[in-house]
Amino acid sequence: MNISDTLRNAGLVGAGGAGFPTYVKTKAEIDYLIGNGAECEPLLHKDARLMEAEAPRVVRGMQLMAEATKAKNCVIGIKSKNQGAVDAIRAAAEGTNVTIHELQDYYPAGDEYELVHEIAKRLIPPKGIPLDVGCVTNNVETFFNVARAVDDGVPVTHKWLTITGAVREPITAVVPIGTTFRECIELAGGSTLDEFQMSLNGIMMGQWETDTEKRVTRTTGGIIVLPVDHHLMVRRSREPAKMHQIGKSACDQCTFCTELCPRYLLGYDVQPHKVMRSLEFTLAGEAMWNKWADLCCSCGLCTLYACPEDLYPKEACDRAKDDLREREDGWSGPMEVEAHPMKEYRKVPVKSLMKKLNLLKYEHHAPLTEKALEPDMVRIPLKMHIGAPAQPVVAVGDRVQCGQPIAETPADALGVTIHASIDGVVSAVNGEIEIHRS
Ligand code: SF4
Ligand code: SF4
Repeated sequence: MNISDTLRNAGLVGAGGAGFPTYVKTKAEIDYLIGNGAECEPLLHKDARLMEAEAPRVVRGMQLMAEATKAKNCVIGIKSKNQGAVDAIRAAAEGTNVTIHELQDYYPAGDEYELVHEIAKRLIPPKGIPLDVGCVTNNVETFFNVARAVDDGVPVTHKWLTITGAVREPITAVVPIGTTFRECIELAGGSTLDEFQMSLNGIMMGQWETDTEKRVTRTTGGIIVLPVDHHLMVRRSREPAKMHQIGKSACDQCTFCTELCPRYLLGYDVQPHKVMRSLEFTLAGEAMWNKWADLCCSCGLCTLYACPEDLYPKEACDRAKDDLREREDGWSGPMEVEAHPMKEYRKVPVKSLMKKLNLLKYEHHAPLTEKALEPDMVRIPLKMHIGAPAQPVVAVGDRVQCGQPIAETPADALGVTIHASIDGVVSAVNGEIEIHRS
């Protein structure tokens, strides 16, 4: 079987958060294969712990992908502060064509536009993807999964994630897909709070959740437990209409949001201060100002770090992008991009970001735990990836083993196979497949 079919059957999707099926990336011919080990979201450390513990598999997975894509350069981006990961990968990569590019500790170092610029010195065209400039990027956990699928025939049944914030023992763990967030938090000793909310996959670009019965998927990379009265919670709980109303009355057009915008500093036409003007105009004016949001990647830095008035330029950009989509309109302009001369001097250190967000007290190493999480029941969604949902191939009452396919995507559709993550009996099949351990 070729590598593309192997990865599709093993259920590989981008483990960094987007969930794009990995097999598609094996079909390209490229100059640079880039490993994303930047992990720039505050408080998350699962990629660092994975590289320390599984460096040979990360390197091997990268070599397999490099062979398929005929990549001329194989480079893993890792922050220098994660010296344990740097040393482990360096040792595992000895004698191979895999090299390391050490990154500074800034946000968003792991954004693929940033990473491609930093490592390959190429700028992706506006609205483009890395492949447009001869590059493919993959999270380091994805490379680990590639090695397991090709060398050991093991599909993706478990997920690496950091469980941190207000928990008794912040850890990194490898848990069966379909486990509840409650069980993950219990594995980390339980929360130190009676009432809390969770940030999933990162404070800056992740989602917020209150329901601990929701479940880990193939793209869950972290659970951060925070008090309900934390500044971030209070800010995000405002109604969008209220956010925009405050922006309308208080934005003084200081331009800090634009001057610190990572995409603007890379040379893209993103200007959130101009998007803020859309809050003040009728529909005709709005359409004009909204275009400055089209190339925004929603990194959140303008809202959570740059704006001295605590306004919501990122949310104004999200609103503007929705409007552009509805009107099938968008940014158009020159495709050549040139980085801003001040880019290097305006990087936002993660430590400063955490200080501003009042998160420093939650920063922990989150070591890889040896404790196994063995849930009595899992619920596995049929869609955890970009593309078509998988179709069940099991029925209620079927006995399944961990790693057995339980849903498949039609051969002509974008998508991957989904597998049981525990041994047990199928107890429900609807939008998800429920398995009770036996
Ligand atoms: S930083 Fe804040 S106040 Fe300044 S232009 Fe941007 S949104 Fe307005
Ligand atoms: S969220 Fe703000 S800082 Fe980030 S890319 Fe969009 S406009 Fe720029």
